[in-house]
Amino acid sequence: MFDAIVLGAGSSSRLKQDKLKLCLGDDSVIYRTLKAFFSIEGLNKLILVTKSDNFFAFADLTEEFNLTLVEGGDTRTESVSNALTCVSAPYVLIHDGARPFVSSKLINTVLLNTKNFGSAIPALPQIDTIKEVFDSKVVKTLDRSKLFSVQTPQGFDSSKIKKAYQSLKIDEVFTDDSAVFEKYIEAPHIVEGDPLNKKITEPSDILGLNAKVGAGFDVHPLALNRKLILCGVEIPSKKGLLGHSDADVAVHAIMDALLSAIGEPDIGELFPDSDPKYLGANSISLLSEVVARVKAKNFTVLSVALTIIAQKPKLAPYREKFIASLSKALKVKEDKIGIGFTTTEYLGIIGEENAIAASAIVSLI
Ligand code: MG
Repeated sequence: MFDAIVLGAGSSSRLKQDKLKLCLGDDSVIYRTLKAFFSIEGLNKLILVTKSDNFFAFADLTEEFNLTLVEGGDTRTESVSNALTCVSAPYVLIHDGARPFVSSKLINTVLLNTKNFGSAIPALPQIDTIKEVFDSKVVKTLDRSKLFSVQTPQGFDSSKIKKAYQSLKIDEVFTDDSAVFEKYIEAPHIVEGDPLNKKITEPSDILGLNAKVGAGFDVHPLALNRKLILCGVEIPSKKGLLGHSDADVAVHAIMDALLSAIGEPDIGELFPDSDPKYLGANSISLLSEVVARVKAKNFTVLSVALTIIAQKPKLAPYREKFIASLSKALKVKEDKIGIGFTTTEYLGIIGEENAIAASAIVSLI
């Protein structure tokens, strides 16, 4: 039997938003973390240490995981001290709430070793070389083979870790529990950590976790007596693109890319060419509607990569105008937009100057 303490009372200062409430797919960080412990056999009590402001916000979690809520202190050390007073099982596992990728295998390994050795700390060998630095100068290069970085959950014999925390002097602060145990009880036992058991601390830790990618492609025929409009910019040309709207293939490809990224129907369905409303429509204003949908789903455009495939006219001289126009419509900075131009080497309908195509890939977060 064991109790688990999940720490979620930090200020998330480096992330500038409450990392516990961040969503990873459909679930929040704290949900994923709590769920990992809830499914472990032998769990007696699941204790969540958090700010009292969160008690109400976490009411659903409290019910689903039968949580014991404890108010966090000003420091990690204080938070753990508060939580230990609720521990009644012979063993306790202490875990960072911001490590949502902890596996049941690691939790069980820590638990088993805690029973056998009185403590178990997951650790990974140090990959980077570590330097001791003072005043911008390297003082010493440490022997990497002796260095390990430690993770959580850290497991302890409950009576021993309680005794360690009771021995603490006022204002003594530690960054992890094994250091308290090491100082007041004995050398903790090390088990192999898990590289996937990452702690979310910096904004870069979540970049990519929630990112979406979308792809779009479009082609329109070229015809006489039509304006050639690409990326919302009119280009002098004998032929223009033919379509129900202004037939701006580049903007159409970008719209489909954005819509696919947020899981919404494509432009054929949203702006059907059977609807007279869209006859001669300005594609840039349709793009604004799509951007509003992206915003409504709480996504931001990270990057847009566009390729325009045309034999003629030569489009590269318009790159800057295209980027400026798209930047305005997408409400993103110009450096987020990349545009490439290619021909089909005179092959097929594009090579024969009878069509222009465009393909777009976007990433959102
Ligand atoms: Mg189209």
